[in-house]
Amino acid sequence: MLTATCDPGVEEFKTRTFDKLKTVRCPVHHQIPRLRIEGATLREVRITMSACCNRLAELANKAIAS
Ligand SMILES: [Zn+2]
Repeated sequence: MLTATCDPGVEEFKTRTFDKLKTVRCPVHHQIPRLRIEGATLREVRITMSACCNRLAELANKAIAS
């Protein structure tokens, strides 16, 4: 599936966000967070994250916010 991305900033944002999460892993279940980034512009961008537990969700949120 190809989505037209008119804002190059979105691609950059995606790359940066995925990069921040590269090292994030659940200390309990050894899972990595699953992330979906949608939106054609930075203003519309939406992050959907699924994690195996709250612990991982917390770590992932912290990594994204850093
Ligand atoms: Zn977990």
